[in-house]
Amino acid sequence: MSADVLGTHDDEPEHSELGRMDVRVRALETVLTQKGYIDPAALDVLIDTYQTKIGPRNGARVVARSWVDANFHDWLMTDATAAIDSLGYAGRQGEHMIAVENTPSRHNLVVCTLCSCYPWPVLGLPPTWYKSAPYRSRVVRDPRGVLADFGVTLGDDVDIRVWDSTAEVRYLVVPQRPDGTQHLTESELAELVTRDSMIGTGFASHPESTK
Ligand code: FE
Repeated sequence: MSADVLGTHDDEPEHSELGRMDVRVRALETVLTQKGYIDPAALDVLIDTYQTKIGPRNGARVVARSWVDANFHDWLMTDATAAIDSLGYAGRQGEHMIAVENTPSRHNLVVCTLCSCYPWPVLGLPPTWYKSAPYRSRVVRDPRGVLADFGVTLGDDVDIRVWDSTAEVRYLVVPQRPDGTQHLTESELAELVTRDSMIGTGFASHPESTK
C-alpha cells in the first residue's frame, strides 16, 4: 500500500489492509472461541456498544464544556481522566487520558504508531484510516504532509506536536474554538466538534458550515 492511499481517507474497507486484518481477527476469534477463552455474544455486545452507543459525540461534549467553563477547562488540562469521568465518560481504553490543546501556535496530532490505540470512551472506535500503516508511519515523518492530505494546512509558524498513543495513555485533542461562536450554547458548540478535530486531522467546524 502506497502512502498516496492516505489521500482518500474515508472509511473504505476495500483498502486491503483492513480486509487482511479482518480475516486474521475472524480466524483468531474462531480459535479463541473454540478453546473457550471468549464468548462471541459478549464480544458482539462490546462492539455494538462502542459502534452505536459510544462515539465522538461524547468527546465533543467534553470539548464544548471546556470551551465554556474555565474551571472544567483547567481540570481537563491537568487531570483529563477525572474531568472526562465527571461527565460520565469512563471505561475501557480511556483509563488514562491526556488532553492536549490546540492554540494559534501549536497543533496537536494523535496517532498510535504501533497499532490502533484510541480513546474509546470519548471517540468510540477508531476510523479505518487511523489504523492504516500509511497514517501510522507518515504522521511521525511528515505530519504536515499528512495534515495536507486531510485538507488541513497550517502556517510555518505553527508548531505541530505528534502524540503517540499507547496501551497506557490515550490523547484527546481540544481543538480551537471557532471565531464567531460567542452566542452559541454549549450543546450548539458541541455540534461543531468533529471526530477528526479531536484526533488533530481536522478543525472544529464553523457555525455557518453546519447549517
Ligand atoms: Fe495501539
